[in-house]
Amino acid sequence: MNQINKIWQKIDPFSLRVRLTIGIAAFSTLGLGSLAIWTTWKMQQILINSHKYNIERIADRLPRDVQIYSAMMSPEQGLQKSVDSLINTNTFIWIKNPENKIIAKSNNWDELSDTAASELMSLTEMSVKPQVTKVKQRYFVLCGGSLPIKGNVLGNLFVVQDVTREQTMYLAMVQSLGIASSLVIIIISVAIAFYIQRSLKPLRQLSHMTEVISAADLPEAQLSIDKAPSEVKELAQTFNMLLSRLSQSWEQERQFVSNVSHELRTPLTIVHGYLQSVLRRQNNLTPTQLEALETAALEAEHTIRLLQDLLDLARADSGYLHFNIDPCVLNDLVIEVVGMAHKYSDRQIIIESTNQTIEVKADYNRLKQVLLNLIDNAVKYSEADTPVIVKLHQQGEEATIQVFDKGYGIPLQHQSRIFERFYRVDENRNRSTGGSGLGLSIVKTLVESMGGSVSVRSRLGEGSVFTISLPIS
Ligand code: ADP
Repeated sequence: MNQINKIWQKIDPFSLRVRLTIGIAAFSTLGLGSLAIWTTWKMQQILINSHKYNIERIADRLPRDVQIYSAMMSPEQGLQKSVDSLINTNTFIWIKNPENKIIAKSNNWDELSDTAASELMSLTEMSVKPQVTKVKQRYFVLCGGSLPIKGNVLGNLFVVQDVTREQTMYLAMVQSLGIASSLVIIIISVAIAFYIQRSLKPLRQLSHMTEVISAADLPEAQLSIDKAPSEVKELAQTFNMLLSRLSQSWEQERQFVSNVSHELRTPLTIVHGYLQSVLRRQNNLTPTQLEALETAALEAEHTIRLLQDLLDLARADSGYLHFNIDPCVLNDLVIEVVGMAHKYSDRQIIIESTNQTIEVKADYNRLKQVLLNLIDNAVKYSEADTPVIVKLHQQGEEATIQVFDKGYGIPLQHQSRIFERFYRVDENRNRSTGGSGLGLSIVKTLVESMGGSVSVRSRLGEGSVFTISLPIS
């Protein structure tokens, strides 16, 4: 039951597969159904209609025969003679006078059971058009009408033919035809569903291939499917052209960001340098001028850092970011970075590591940049009286550096997105911290370029832990 439920939930009513299957199955049902109805109708014609025609002919001929015989003998004798001459096997005739009394009948009634015979003869009226009726488990074609002789109505004529054998055969054939058609429709529908599933496989392949293409793969991304219908191959070709156009515009955008960052960074660094030197020789500045200059220097510094980050990301994207990969002792690196962090902030930063020396293969300066970024975030997104902990650990072939804070934490739905460029969780709170939303994407790019990985674990209101894993050297 559970299994059926699962399969049922997997079926998408709007999918091409379901729509095509339902469409083709409906058309097959319509086609087969029409064929079955036509066959049924034809069978009825063959089996029953000849009998209907027969009794209609008898009902038509009897009045004429009676008239002919009545000229030679008494009307009663003429009537009986006509009836006797017209009957054949399984055909029964009787005539009732206006008082509803039988005045003549065929002499073959003993072929029928008494109950069926008496039920038939008790009928007082019959339609002029022959009809099939069931009487006591037997089927009869009946028709009747008035019997006029020389202008006078002699009585009512009843003609009946036993068609039990034909009707039973007909009903059995209709039943078999119904069962066979339903089975064929079910088999055709299942076969169509499988065939459509197979035919749509190349489209699914195409979709899976497209799904895994990231911005970094764009220049080499090519979709190719063997053994696909020409329409799907054509679609893959169109996708390939689209990918190449995307790749070109992505490249142009990267180039633009890289150029702009580079062009802006140099003059801004000069401005920042001048501001710093004026601030150093600040003897005759008023407090307002001093505050304005300090704000300008701080903003210039933020912007230079932002431009540097943009430049690094653009270079990493185009594969031009240079790395000096050498063995580095993580214990020394952590002590140095924590020392640097203390210059900017008086936050308590605790290092927890074993006495064991942990050595990884990485770019020392880039790794310092990564760790400084994480410690900077830990300080920015926690209260001033909470400590930041940096833990060093080695397990097997992997070394980890973890940065713990007891800060605001990151809501679960944002945790997978904070490594995206310019993604910031709470814009209102973050504005005061002065970040740009690029720090963690730089961290991720640098760590992954050095063969490592970065992850986050966080609880809202309790704090966060960022873990960098690197292969040991
Ligand atoms: P920003 O320049 O805004 O710090 P990041 O890329 O470094 O940019 O971080 C992205 C977002 O992730 C931040 O805006 C912040 O909301 C969240 N974040 C990063 N580190 C932490 C942390 N230690 N604690 C809570 N939130 C964090």
